[in-house]
Amino acid sequence: MVRETKFYDLLDVPPTASEADLKKAYRKKALRLHPDKGGDPDQFKEVTHAYEVLNDPDKRALYDARGEAGLSESGGMGGMDPQDLFSQLFGGGGGGFGGSPFGGGGQQRQRKTKDLVHRVHVTLEDLYKGKTTKLALTRNIICTKCSGKGGKDGAVRKCPTCSGRGIKITMRQMGPMIQQIQSPCDECSGNGEIINAKDRCTQCKGKKVIPDKKFLEVHIDKGMKGGQTIQFRGESDQSPSAEAGDVIIVIEEKPHERFRRQENDLIIDVEIDLLTALAGGEFPVRHLDERALIVKVHPGEVTKHGDLKVIHGQGMPSQRHHEPGDLYVRLSIKFPENIDPSVYPLLEKALPPRRPMEKFPANIVLDEVSMDDAEQSGGGPGHSHDDAMDEDAEEPRVQCANQ
Ligand SMILES: [Zn+2]
Ligand SMILES: [Zn+2]
Repeated sequence: MVRETKFYDLLDVPPTASEADLKKAYRKKALRLHPDKGGDPDQFKEVTHAYEVLNDPDKRALYDARGEAGLSESGGMGGMDPQDLFSQLFGGGGGGFGGSPFGGGGQQRQRKTKDLVHRVHVTLEDLYKGKTTKLALTRNIICTKCSGKGGKDGAVRKCPTCSGRGIKITMRQMGPMIQQIQSPCDECSGNGEIINAKDRCTQCKGKKVIPDKKFLEVHIDKGMKGGQTIQFRGESDQSPSAEAGDVIIVIEEKPHERFRRQENDLIIDVEIDLLTALAGGEFPVRHLDERALIVKVHPGEVTKHGDLKVIHGQGMPSQRHHEPGDLYVRLSIKFPENIDPSVYPLLEKALPPRRPMEKFPANIVLDEVSMDDAEQSGGGPGHSHDDAMDEDAEEPRVQCANQ
């Protein structure tokens, strides 16, 4: 289920699109809209932003659940320069796409570690009553022994091979062209720094961070809805070189066996017996907390099959003012299997008389017939009934009759 389709629409893909579909669609659109090709920079940015979100499984999950609003609430979206993403994907920079006439804005973005998105499945009971639940979370924290330095003071040196840049550039001759190839520095594995094995921090082995388990208290407020998020700022992985991202809890509402929810209203199907429908009575509704509602059916009004009634104030609490929604009851009526013929006179006395027979013109032939039970399973009008055919092929069927 997807709340908004705007980003999918921008890329002309359905919400079910795979990663490969997205990439293909983005490439097609971006090539057409690229400002260097005379496209509209704003449109290009929009399409790029849509792709940037949908291409990240966490962000996509958040967008599907909460729409664009969910993304901005979770923060950390930082404006990635569309040119950056485009070059990253399709190896721009060289050739016709050099020198971007736009962008500039997002250059000094703050580095943050990845947000951790976690879905929790919550019962309707817990959303009704509210609940506090503990969530165990394992994430990296700055090594407590070396305070994130990776080794003893002064043990960390700039990698001499790459001068701390972390990359190695090699030249390759390709016909008349010389191609520059960038790859991570072998010496420092792209870190740009080196720690001698003997000076490495024994706790983190020079990695500067260690895995750590933490319990988060997740408060599920009364009346929360599926798709809502709870955010723990800065509780994602720590890193000596970046700000910690956030842990984002996405609420998912488990389907309930009796109630359906529509915003703050609840809907339940209840079957009552014919006598209660005609002469009044009562029925219970087990609620989502430790209560059962005893619902009166007032004598004097006749309940019909399919009637929709409302019990005010018995829906879900609203999160803001704790003003509850309503409980809708869809009534169906259980008819008795049979009735003793000796009480027919009583029924005839109690119920409105039988509808009088319609009068037909004299040229209409009256043909008396009786009804049989139609097949319950697999049958019904319009269905073929191949295996039933040989059982009683003599008997005419509902769907075969022409008049
Ligand atoms: Zn350490
Ligand atoms: Zn190096």
